[in-house]
Amino acid sequence: MARVVVLAGGTGGAKLAHGFDLALAAGRAGPGDAGGDDLTVIVNTGDDLELHGLHVSPDIDMVVYLLAGILDRERGWGLAGETWSAAAMLERYGAPTWFRLGDGDLATQVRRTERLHAGATLTAVTGELAAALGVRARILPMCDDPVRTRIRIDAGWLDFQEWFVRRRHADDAREVRLEGIARARPTREVMAAIGGAGLVVVGPSNPFVSIGPILAVPGLADALYAAPAPVVAVSPIVAGRAIKGPADRMLAATGIEVSAAGVAQYYAERYPRLLDGFVVDRSDAALAARIEALGPRVLVADTLMTGDGERARLASEIVAWGVSLARLA
Ligand code: GDP
Repeated sequence: MARVVVLAGGTGGAKLAHGFDLALAAGRAGPGDAGGDDLTVIVNTGDDLELHGLHVSPDIDMVVYLLAGILDRERGWGLAGETWSAAAMLERYGAPTWFRLGDGDLATQVRRTERLHAGATLTAVTGELAAALGVRARILPMCDDPVRTRIRIDAGWLDFQEWFVRRRHADDAREVRLEGIARARPTREVMAAIGGAGLVVVGPSNPFVSIGPILAVPGLADALYAAPAPVVAVSPIVAGRAIKGPADRMLAATGIEVSAAGVAQYYAERYPRLLDGFVVDRSDAALAARIEALGPRVLVADTLMTGDGERARLASEIVAWGVSLARLA
C-alpha cells in the first residue's frame, strides 16, 4: 500500500477511510509490522456543536467509532448496542434532545470536553480517544480552531446541525458560511501528514459541507498543491444521485450538473489542477472522457461501499492506481 491521507466527513469519506484501514491491516505481516504503510484521516469539524455544555464532534466520532468497530452501522451514527437513559432524563429536564446522544456517546463528549477544558487541543484529545478505542489510523481534526458551518435557508441562517439534523435538511441550502475559517490554521500534524503522504484521497463526502470546510482551512489546499503525492477524489454522486444526504440538491443549486462529472467540475473550478485523479462508479463510466477533459485521469470502479469487502477492495484499487499518477499541479 502506501502512506495514505483521506479527507473525510462522517459518512462516505468515513466508509472509504474504513476501507483503507481494512486493506492496510490485511496487507500487514503481523500486528507489529507497520511496513512503512499508514493511514491518516483528516476530518471535517465544521459540523461540531456545543450541546449540554459539551463539545460534540459528530464527524470525528463517526470515523473513530467506525474504525474502532463500534459504530451502529445500520443507523449510520452513534454506538452499536447503545442505551438511552441520559437522553430520557435530559428530556424530562426539558433539555433539547433533537440531536440524540446515547449514554456511551455522551461519555465520549464528556471526556472530550473535560480534556479540552484542561487545555488539550482537539487534535490531542482525538488521538487519545481513538487510541483508547483501539483505532490504528491517525485521526486528525482539520484544525484545532473553532469553525462552524452555517447554512442559509429562505427563512434565514441556521447552525449546521439545526439544518441537517433538526430540520432533516428539508429546506434548500441557499448559501454556506464557514464561521471562524479565516482565523483557522492547519495543525502541524495535518501539514506533516500531507507532506509525507504517498497518496491523498478526497473521500466521497459532501463537497460543500464536508470537504469544503477542510479545503478552506487557510494553507491546507496550498499544502496539497505543494505535496509530492498525487491527489485523487472519489465521487459521492453515483448515477446522478447522492447515496445519502443533500449533496445532489446542493450541486443542483449551484447550477452544476448533478453527476460525477458535475462534482469533478465543481472541484476543478474551485481548485484548478488540484485533482490528479477522479474515481467514478461503474454506472458512470460514460462520463470518464468528459471528466478527463477537465484534467484528472479517471478510474472506473465499484464505489458502493456496502460491506467491508467492497470497502477494502475499492481502497486497494485506488491505491494501486493512484500512487503512480502524474501530478498536474
Ligand atoms: P456526513 O458528514 O454524514 O454528511 O457525510 P459525508 O459528507 O462524509 O458523506 C455524505 C456523502 O457520502 C453523500 O454525498 C453520499 O452520496 C456519499 N456516500 C455515502 N455512501 C457512499 C458510498 O458507498 N459510495 C459513494 N461513492 N458515496 C457514498
